[in-house]
Amino acid sequence: MILPNDFKSEYKEIEHEVQSKMKDFFAKGWYIMGDELKSFEQEFAIYIGQKNCIGVANGLEGLFLALKALEIGHGDEVIVPANTYIASVLAISQVGAKPVFVEPNMQTHNIDPSKIEAAITNKTKAILPVHLYGLISDMPEIMRIANKYNLYVVEDCAQAHGASINEQKAGSFGHINAFSFYPTKNLGAYGDAGAITTNDENLAKKIYQLRNYGSEVRYQNEIIGYNSRLDELQAAILRVKLKYLDSWNKKRRKAADSFKKEFSYKDWIFPLEPEGYYHVYHQFVVQSENREFDMKELESLGYKCLIHYPIPPYKSNAYNLLYKNHTFPIADMLSETVFSLPIHGKIWHSN
Ligand SMILES: *Cc1c(COP(=O)(O)O)cnc(C)c1O
Repeated sequence: MILPNDFKSEYKEIEHEVQSKMKDFFAKGWYIMGDELKSFEQEFAIYIGQKNCIGVANGLEGLFLALKALEIGHGDEVIVPANTYIASVLAISQVGAKPVFVEPNMQTHNIDPSKIEAAITNKTKAILPVHLYGLISDMPEIMRIANKYNLYVVEDCAQAHGASINEQKAGSFGHINAFSFYPTKNLGAYGDAGAITTNDENLAKKIYQLRNYGSEVRYQNEIIGYNSRLDELQAAILRVKLKYLDSWNKKRRKAADSFKKEFSYKDWIFPLEPEGYYHVYHQFVVQSENREFDMKELESLGYKCLIHYPIPPYKSNAYNLLYKNHTFPIADMLSETVFSLPIHGKIWHSN
């Protein structure tokens, strides 16, 4: 059975490098805010094409601190896709702002830019597009709308490391953007980790302070900050893995092509890759009219499938009271029809 995740075969590929890194790491004995973090931040900033990358504790806190740095809070509204993973929404709630849901496009699964303007009010401060399943949102159009209404854009890049439009990468369009390096992501640590990318020096400076008690110089506290740092150990591992990201993304794309061929007889709606877009297939998500039946059939063929995501955030117990007068039929329909085939190391190696 091919399971939804497989960390062991990926680890095998980099075992020697990781082990020699770990030997150095323990010889050095420096665990928080050291050279590994600094180097990873520089390398990831270059990879994404931004002036600054700041490591943080995880993806959710990356989004939270990005919104904090923009001084978004009580009384403000932030536009977010209705079918996202709940973390994007939690970050908005955590700063005290109100998530305003916009329907996704049925084919791309990403926020439908043609529906954003109708959701803008005089309280709207930002748009938070989510590059779901590894396909980057329509960023040129989202930036055009944001500029027209003077809004900030915070990209949620947790599922889109290396995804691009005409070679411009996810995490380099918005004013300030967040990544997660949760183990299952395309670039994953061996634990929790995250990062923020921005070209704005002032925002970067604020994040350096916010993530470390409001301080950049020890015992000098400029603002009321948090503890949200990326460990040296995880940074060291991420530096090893970053070198493999492009080749692993290519393997995901190859596996996606094989799936499209293998299951071309199915009447599923397959993932779309618009012209000029580079999909990195964090998940390989299809829409099926007979989801339960198809998932069982695939299991008998040796593929354990999952549903990303069975409940839209606005219908979760956490939010359903707040949104009881709202409906999002496209997000609902997707939650009832989508399922994901396993797309990871074991699949690549069997191809
Ligand atoms: C994983 C994920 C997050 C949260 O990342 P963590 O590191 O788990 O906090 C946020 N948004 C999306 C879309 C995600 O997939």
